[in-house]
Amino acid sequence: EEKAYQFMVRSRIPGGALTAEQYLVEDDLAGRYANGTLRFTTRQGIQLHGVLKHDLRATIRAINEALLSTLAACGDVNRNVMACPAPARSRAQAQVQEVARQIARHLAPRSRAYHEIWVDGQHVQTVGTPDDEEVEPIYGPTYLPRKFKIGVAFPGDNCIDVYTQDIGLVAELDDGGELAGFTVLVGGGMGMTHGKADTYPRLGTPLCFVPAAEALSVVETIVTIQRDYGDRQNRKHARMKYVVEERGIAWFRAELERRLGHAVADPHPLQWEGVDDHLGWHEQGDGRWFLGVYVENGRVRDTDSCQLRTGLRKAIETFRPGIRLTGQQNILLTDLTADQREPLEALLRAHGIETDPTKLGVKRYAMACPALPTCGLAVAEAERVLPSVVDEIGRQMEELGLAGERLSLRMSGCPNGCARPYMGDIGFVGRSKDLYNIYVGGDWENTRLTTLYAASVPLREVPATIRPLLLLWRDERTPGETFGDYCHRVGVEYLRQRAQTLDER
Ligand code: SF4
Repeated sequence: EEKAYQFMVRSRIPGGALTAEQYLVEDDLAGRYANGTLRFTTRQGIQLHGVLKHDLRATIRAINEALLSTLAACGDVNRNVMACPAPARSRAQAQVQEVARQIARHLAPRSRAYHEIWVDGQHVQTVGTPDDEEVEPIYGPTYLPRKFKIGVAFPGDNCIDVYTQDIGLVAELDDGGELAGFTVLVGGGMGMTHGKADTYPRLGTPLCFVPAAEALSVVETIVTIQRDYGDRQNRKHARMKYVVEERGIAWFRAELERRLGHAVADPHPLQWEGVDDHLGWHEQGDGRWFLGVYVENGRVRDTDSCQLRTGLRKAIETFRPGIRLTGQQNILLTDLTADQREPLEALLRAHGIETDPTKLGVKRYAMACPALPTCGLAVAEAERVLPSVVDEIGRQMEELGLAGERLSLRMSGCPNGCARPYMGDIGFVGRSKDLYNIYVGGDWENTRLTTLYAASVPLREVPATIRPLLLLWRDERTPGETFGDYCHRVGVEYLRQRAQTLDER
């Protein structure tokens, strides 16, 4: 008898935008076929965990019938395109979302195999027959060497971690507030392999500026460069960041221009005002409102103290808002009228859901990847242990008089870094069962990588390893200096020495 194989089913949701009806389908599938939870991802998608093999087709078909798709949510193709999810404050913001949708559509594999296997099973036997040659105009017969990630940022707000994308587009507006074009970054990526020096996290490098109308063709052309030059021998070295790093940005630009048949403009200097998690109430600019609701590690489930799944479902059934998922694994309920605000809040509060982001404390900026038990690549826990680490660090901050200070924590169960742990104030990267490498020193705008501070720290020693750093930050920071900026300024060598002497006292 065959084993009861379990699967993860991931939906591709460009820009994290879906309708109330689509959300309710995902929620229904979570209850019917998965483990009773939904998992919002760090790329604005949704994962269902624990789907049994014999329920796979029904699950995937229902997702497609809801006009969502799992096509290209995995595999060596362009993955879910991220975009700043804040609802249209201006025409330009809506245009940014639209560009993300266009890129997702344009770079979706054209193969009909997916639909034949999952959506309309009757034609499954036609796949691959000689008279059914399929042409992939962008990917060609062998697709890409590795997965490929694209994100579109709104000016000033790096909420999609644009420097971590294979291609990052940073929008620029003209004087009239219309979308003018994009500064294009290439070669970002988080993944590395422990002990392999030719693998490393890398920030995207500014490549060029393109007018909005040319964005799609430039993105497509960059994808073909990776298709043709990406490493197909070694999967651990196959992302586009290694092409950019090893051949250089000048080579990359020349190759882009050669393929386009014309020169491109220099990239424009970028300015960041921060990273907006979009939580709490915001006016949309059209008289309506949106509410950003915090979801711990993106896991939508019911517990004794917080019926998040039920509360969200009831709120979405009752008020039929637009839905946007964020790159921090949270959810925005959009297009609400002023008089819906109070009853919506009351409904959420009745289910134990916190609607005031200022009351969240350290967990507000904490993110973990799913890791164990659902990710086959995990070597250590992340989602299941981060909450207790966050609680302990929160307690320490209170003791040290640092309550209310911002701190971002990111934890991944392996060095692939799906929670983007090489950015932010503190990153924890699973080394092996129960052991973590601790990275510090990223900036609040997520434009700088962290540095390894301590290797192979047992989970139970993680809070004690962080504590001296918090103390040093408290006593030695310049006015307003963030934890990451402080660590970066003084350097990890200094931190290690000083932490030692503090310990000995
Ligand atoms: Fe990604 Fe690794 Fe976490 Fe799996 S364990 S979700 S591959 S970072």
